[in-house]
Amino acid sequence: MHSPRTPRHPIRWLLFCMAWLASCAWATEALDATVMPAGALSLSEFVALLEDPERNLTLADVQTAAQAARFKTDLPASSSLNLGFTRSAYWLRLTLRNHSNTPLERMLTVDNPRIAFIQAHLPDASGQYRSIVTGSDVPNSRLYPNRNFVFPLTLAPASEQVVYLRIASNIGLLVPLQLWSPAAFHAHERNDYLVQAWYFGIVSAMILFNLMLFFALRDRIYLLYVVFVTCLAFTLAIKNGLVGELWPGGTLLDMNAAYYSGASLTLSALLLFMRRMLRTDQLMPRTDRLLLGMIIFFALTPLAFALALPTLVRAGIVLYMASVVVILIVVVACALKRQRNAYFFLAAFAVLILGAATTLLRAVGVLPTNAFTVDAIQLGSAVEMLLLAFALADRFNVMRRDKAQVQTDLLRAQQQLLDTLQNSERQLEQRVAERTDELQLLNSKLEALSLTDGLTGIANRRDFDSILQQEWQRAQRLSQPLALGILDVDWFKRYNDLYGHPAGDVCLRQIAQTLASTVCRASDFVARYGGEEFVFIAPMTEASNAMDIAHKLVQTIADLAMPHNDSPLGCVTVSIGVAVMVPSTEHNAEVIVQRADAALYQAKTQGRNRTVLAE
Ligand code: GH3
Ligand code: MG
Ligand code: MG
Repeated sequence: MHSPRTPRHPIRWLLFCMAWLASCAWATEALDATVMPAGALSLSEFVALLEDPERNLTLADVQTAAQAARFKTDLPASSSLNLGFTRSAYWLRLTLRNHSNTPLERMLTVDNPRIAFIQAHLPDASGQYRSIVTGSDVPNSRLYPNRNFVFPLTLAPASEQVVYLRIASNIGLLVPLQLWSPAAFHAHERNDYLVQAWYFGIVSAMILFNLMLFFALRDRIYLLYVVFVTCLAFTLAIKNGLVGELWPGGTLLDMNAAYYSGASLTLSALLLFMRRMLRTDQLMPRTDRLLLGMIIFFALTPLAFALALPTLVRAGIVLYMASVVVILIVVVACALKRQRNAYFFLAAFAVLILGAATTLLRAVGVLPTNAFTVDAIQLGSAVEMLLLAFALADRFNVMRRDKAQVQTDLLRAQQQLLDTLQNSERQLEQRVAERTDELQLLNSKLEALSLTDGLTGIANRRDFDSILQQEWQRAQRLSQPLALGILDVDWFKRYNDLYGHPAGDVCLRQIAQTLASTVCRASDFVARYGGEEFVFIAPMTEASNAMDIAHKLVQTIADLAMPHNDSPLGCVTVSIGVAVMVPSTEHNAEVIVQRADAALYQAKTQGRNRTVLAE
């Protein structure tokens, strides 16, 4: 874009220089509108200004010589007239000259849709004034449908015409006054609406998308974001004059009160969103209470603005600025505490503040007017919105990662628990097995003990009883002869009496050993029957063989020649009763014992130291 007063074409440039020189000679406020720049021509330095504190001057009044002389003409060049916070009405006088011999079409624009009242007194070709009353608080009043105030002008050939604008507002007045050729204006208008459509398209998409996220994820933070973006969008729509455009018939009672209320609600919504996003309630509880107070305060300010905006607006702006400082401090503090979301917030705010600062600097003339600086706040706000949405996505990501981590930890802990359990189960099983083995060993030892005679170490009566049963049944099954011998030591009572019980025990052990070594077939069995009586069982043994065994036994013991001075035989001897039977079903094992015992009795009566076979 070109500076408004430097045309490109050399001839145009020449004409322009001549016009400029002429305008300097005439008066500072006379503007030659014959040759126009490619873009807008800022009018602030060509305008003469008259303050009307009483708000009672009319067009006729300001046209009088006395009032005309009071117009100030040496206004500084900037993109807009900054009239400050004022309750006065202002008269703007603009002298336009057409030195060509054709009529000129021009567009006069006031790029501030929030000016409450504008009276435009526009001269026609014949010099007659046509008066229009418009403004943000005057419904259905636009001469030309646009979000800003646009006044089409026709300048008669070779003429000079004076345009008067009377401007009144209830708050700060910023009047960006520009002149365009119709073609330049239409091009600008298309771009301007494109930017607005682009911005509000993004806003709508963000609102709908995050609303869907809210319903899908049931996380209130998305709703807070939606509320914030909606408030921001409405406030910017008011600021940009789009509300008046979409709803030309209706009017908000006071567009500026609506604008400042919107700003307050946006700030409240932003603080709510920020609190939740940065978790200030946990990170900095005291500051969080301050933020809550600010939220409530700003949510209530619309009531005050509706009642007394002009008196409160300066305080309001100071509080907005203070809030921006507070927000920045909180965000930086959170960022320093390594709160991840704070980085996004910081970036988002930096962009928004940069946009706002650019807009402000353009308005006061420090920055040039171009596509970027004109829409800087909107660009900043769009980027801010996107960055905050990105912060939401990042937050979701972090939450998902944390959840996955927790799940992994849980699974690992579970696995560890399972391992420990399995381990201890294994150990328990092993110990039980060990104990079982020990017990079995002990049991078999016990069993062996319970079947062994303590004195002699050979099988005892219990063992004998069960072995006899087994052998009896087996012999019965096989129809084989079973031999049983009962051995009784002769005159043993006397032996005890003579040599004492311990010697008797030694003697009994000697006899048991002899018994065990003499009756030595694998299938044979010997036991102590009780007292000084012993038994042997010889399965599958005929009577003759059984008697051989018994004879051999009697002989071997006698051969031991253990002295027994109280026995008629002079040494320890034994008597044996033998019985041999093929067991039949009508008898039980008792019978063979009784028969052997009877035979033993016979052996005793026949003189002892002998063997008798039962009948
Ligand atoms: P007999 O020739 O008629 O058999 O005469 P006996 O003296 O052997 O008569 P009896 O069989 O009635 O006597 C058994 C004796 O054996 C009685 C008891 O003092 C002795 N006796 C029994 N058990 C033991 C023992 O465990 N140790 C010792 N030292 N003596 C025993
Ligand atoms: Mg006896
Ligand atoms: Mg005896």
